[in-house]
This record gives sequence, C-alpha cells and structure tokens, in this order.
Amino acid sequence: MSDDFTRIIVLGIDGLEYSLVEEWKLEYILQRAHCRTDLSDYDVVVTPPLWGSMITGKIDREVMRRWKLHTLLAGMDSMRVKLAEKLGRYLPHRPTIWVWNHLVLPVTGGNPFESTADYVKKKNLHTIFHEFEKSWTNGLPGYGRVVSNSTARELLLEAFRGNRKPYIRYAIQLYKEDRERLFSALNRDYDLIFWYTCLLDKIGHVCAGNKLEMLKYYLEINQLAKRVKKKCPDAIIYIISDHGMKPAEGAGKWGVHSDYGFFSSSTGELISKPYHLYELLLRHAPGI
Ligand SMILES: [Zn+2]
Repeated sequence: MSDDFTRIIVLGIDGLEYSLVEEWKLEYILQRAHCRTDLSDYDVVVTPPLWGSMITGKIDREVMRRWKLHTLLAGMDSMRVKLAEKLGRYLPHRPTIWVWNHLVLPVTGGNPFESTADYVKKKNLHTIFHEFEKSWTNGLPGYGRVVSNSTARELLLEAFRGNRKPYIRYAIQLYKEDRERLFSALNRDYDLIFWYTCLLDKIGHVCAGNKLEMLKYYLEINQLAKRVKKKCPDAIIYIISDHGMKPAEGAGKWGVHSDYGFFSSSTGELISKPYHLYELLLRHAPGI
C-alpha cells in the first residue's frame, strides 16, 4: 500500500518530558509544532484516565475518584519515593508484597491500574476508533493495557531494594515488543494507528535524576520517530505524552510525574489539553 495523506499515526509516549525534548532539541519528536499540555482539568495525574480521555474526548470522573484515594494513600510522590529509597533496602521482599496486597490495596479499593486498565471498553464508551474505517492500537492504559501488573510491581520493589537492572531490562523488553508491533502495523493499510509505549515513564521512575542515562532513551524515541517519518512521509503524525517525568526531590535518581504533558504535530496543529486529541483526530476522520 502506498501511504496517502489521510493516514494518521499517533505515537503515544508515556512520561515524555517536554523540557528534555526542548533542551536536547530532538527534532523528530519536536516536529513542525510542539507545546506543553495543561493537565489542570484532571483530578490526579495518572495514566489510565489520561489515555482514556484522549480517545473518548472526556475525563471520566468516576474513574478519577477510584484513583484519588489510591493516590492519596499510595501514590508515588517525592516524599514517598524518598522514604522508599531510604527504607527499601531493609524491606524483606515477600512480606512487603504480602502487606501491599493484603493490607494496602484492600484499603485503597484494589489496584486501580488493574481495575481501570480496560474501563473504556467495559463501560462501552464511544472512542475515536469508531470514527475510522480501519484503526489499530497496541493497547492503551484504560483501553486494554495494564501498565503496572504484579511483575512490574515486584521488579519496582526490587529496584527500591537497590537493584534497578531487572526493572530497566523489563521496560526495554516491553518497548522492543511494542516497537516491533508498530512497524508491522505500518506495513498494513490502517487509516488510524495509535501506538503506545511506557518506556520513558518506567525508566523515568527509576532514572529521571540521571540525565545522561535518560538521554540514551530519548535518543531512541527520537530515532523511532525518524524511522516512522521516513517510512510514512505523507502521513499526519501526532506525538503525545500523558505527563512528563522530573527528578523526585531529594531522592537521587528516582523520578515522579511532572504536572504537564507534551504534544507535537507534523501539520503545525496544536492542542492545549490531552483530551482535545479526540476532536483533532475527528477532524481528519473519513466521516463513516
Ligand atoms: Zn508513572
């Protein structure tokens, strides 16, 4: 199939930090126009409701409520990351997992990463995918993807106990699988491709304070955006993040979410809030 101008590719990069893309002038991520996005309409900056809002055009307040309590009690803010870094090495692995699963999660109403991983489909919400003839996604948080399963949590705990390598290896492996799926999707005739990777969020949580280390992964994403552009020179390409990552205050290499996101386009179009992506995509939908 030859690429025509109506093909739209969204590269969803969880945790892509606006200030780093600007500082390092990563031209294939910056594209023709780019901006920070404003997250002030969201009650908490967490992944599933953010991505869900991009494909539905709406913030789901009920899902947000489920997250609010969890974030209050168990969210990864600078203070808790600092505490986990100090105490992590003393935490025995299995008992800590037991306490987390049997004492913390029941109080917070279960792991919202799992209970909201597919909320868009479970609630039968109308999405942008309904507006295109042939759309594809490798799964988004809120739309069929669990970004923090038991493997990820156990490896994160291991990282807090001083060994970050297995967690980083796990994040890279997931990224490679997702990258392969993207390039095989680009060979097909989809009119909307919405691709997602959690690489920079996962690595950012354990490495945001080490800029040199982060640069390596940002260069990889820039390279990926370049390959997509070369492969589909006439496609409309949007690059979007839910939020960025910043170093946790006083906690060495560890990172936490920053309270704004990133957006760029190959067309010069811009949006100010993540959920405006729905309307933007709708403008280019074939009208079926
Ligand atoms: Zn995160």
